[in-house]
Amino acid sequence: MTTLRLILGDQLNPLHSWFAQTDNNVVYTLMEIRQETDYVLHHAQKIIGIFAAMRDFARHLAALGHRVHYLKIDDTDNRQSLPANLDALIKRYQAQRFEYQLPDEWRLAQQLQDYCHNLPIPGQASDSEHFYTQREDARELFGGQAHWLMEKFYRRMRVKHSVLLDTNQRPLGGRWNFDHDNRKAWPGVPAVPYDNRPRHDHAELWQDIVAAGVNSFGAADADDFRWPLNRQQVLQQLDAFIADVLPHFGDFQDAMSRRSWRLFHSLLSFALNSKMLNPREVVERAEAAYRHGQAPLAACEGFIRQIIGWREYVRGVYWAKMPTYVLQNHFGHDRPLPSWFWTGETQMNCLAASIGQSLQYAYAHHIQRLMVIGNFALLAGLAPEAVHRWYLGVYIDAFEWVELPNTLGMSQFADGGLLATKPYVSSAAYIDRMSDYCKGCRYDKKARSGDRACPFNALYWHFFSRHRDKLQRNPRVSMVYRNLDRFAPAERDAIVRRAEAVLADLDRL
Ligand code: SF4
Repeated sequence: MTTLRLILGDQLNPLHSWFAQTDNNVVYTLMEIRQETDYVLHHAQKIIGIFAAMRDFARHLAALGHRVHYLKIDDTDNRQSLPANLDALIKRYQAQRFEYQLPDEWRLAQQLQDYCHNLPIPGQASDSEHFYTQREDARELFGGQAHWLMEKFYRRMRVKHSVLLDTNQRPLGGRWNFDHDNRKAWPGVPAVPYDNRPRHDHAELWQDIVAAGVNSFGAADADDFRWPLNRQQVLQQLDAFIADVLPHFGDFQDAMSRRSWRLFHSLLSFALNSKMLNPREVVERAEAAYRHGQAPLAACEGFIRQIIGWREYVRGVYWAKMPTYVLQNHFGHDRPLPSWFWTGETQMNCLAASIGQSLQYAYAHHIQRLMVIGNFALLAGLAPEAVHRWYLGVYIDAFEWVELPNTLGMSQFADGGLLATKPYVSSAAYIDRMSDYCKGCRYDKKARSGDRACPFNALYWHFFSRHRDKLQRNPRVSMVYRNLDRFAPAERDAIVRRAEAVLADLDRL
C-alpha cells in the first residue's frame, strides 16, 4: 500500500518524525508550481530561495533512502497546481493514502482540506512539528478581549517553557522585558561582523524560472543571493550569529544605517520560516549564550522575545482572525502604492535606503519595515491590502501567517488596535534619532511646512488630525493631540497645505 506525502515549500524540516525511518511504501513529493509563484508578485530571490532549498531538501531525502518525486517548474508533466499534480501522482503511484503537514497559510489549509474531502482515498493532516504553540492557543488566551497584548502571551511562554527564568520561576535579571535598554543608534562601532554566508550559483534555476514565464521583481543577482539553503548552512549561520552578532543585537536592534544593511540582525528568519531551523534550537542557543557569559541579558531577552513572543503570537492572531483579517481597514485608507515601492527611486533617503535594500536583498529589518516603510504607508493612507501584498512579495521570510498580522495589524493599525496599542507612526525626529538617513537628505528633517519640509513631518500631523475621531480617546496618543491643538492656526494651515501637496503627488517625492 503506497502513501503519498506532500511537503510544501515552507516545510523543509529535516527533524520531522516523517523522516525518522525510510519506508519504500511512502513517496514524498515536492513541487514548484505556478499556483505558488503567482498568488502575489514575488521578489526574485524569494522564488529562487524557496525552490533552491526545496531542491536541496529533496536531494537530502533521496540520499537518506527516501522515495522522492520532485516536480520542477518547467517539467512537462507539471500541471502547476496542487490538486492537479496530486491527482496525477496518486494515479501514477496508485497511492491508497494521502498525507500532508498542516499548512501555515489559511489559503493552503483550505485548499488541502477541500482536496481531501473530495478524495476517494483517505487523506490525513499531521502537525508540522515546528512551532511551540498550537494554532488556537492565542484565541484561547485572549478570547473576546479588544486588545491582545503580546506581553501577556510572551510571559506565559517564558514560564511554560522555562526560558530565562531563575530557580524561583522569576525572570532572570528581575525584569521580563529589556526593551528600554535596546534602543541605541549605531555610531559605526562596534564593526558589523564580516558576512561569511556562502554565495550560491543559481543561474540554472533562475533560467528555469524565467523560461517558465514566472513574473517577479527585485534583484536576482548571484552576488546578492546569500540565503542558507540547507541544514548545514543554516547551522553555520546560527553559530556565527550566536558568537559574533548576538552580543550586539540588543543595543542596536532598532538602529538603521546606510553603512550596513543588516547591522546586528540574525538573518535567520528565512531559515526559521521555511522550517530548516527549529525555534527551540535558536532559543536554547541564545539562552546558553547568556548563561555562559557570551552575550548580555538584554540582547538575549530581546532576541528570544522575537521568537517565542512575537513569532508565535502573530501566528495565533492569524489563525484566530482569518479569513476576514485581510480585509480589515480601520482608517478606510485607499491610496495605491507610489511607483518607487518597485524601484527605490525616491529623494527621501530613509525610504530609498529601506526599499532599496529590500529590492536588492529581499530583506529589511523590523524597524525599517515598521518605522520607515510602514510608517510612511500609514501616514500617507496607502491601502493596507496593497501594503500587505507588497510586504508578502518582497521579503524572503514573508509567509502570510507571520507577515499579515505584522503588516496589517502592527504596522498599519488596520485592525483598529487588536495588536498595537497605538499607531506606530513618527515624524522625522525618530528616524533621525535611530539612523544616519537624514544626513544629506533632500528634505529638511526639522521643517513641518514648505516645499523642502520632510514629508513625514506634515503627514504625521495630518494623519492625527484626519483621524481624530478614531484616535483621540487613546491614552497613548493624548499628548499628540495636546501638541496639535497648541499650533497657531496659520501654522496648522501651512502643515495641511504641505501634507496635501505631498499626498497629491506621492510618485514625485
Ligand atoms: Fe526620511 Fe525625512 Fe529624514 Fe529625509 S529628512 S531621511 S525623508 S525622515
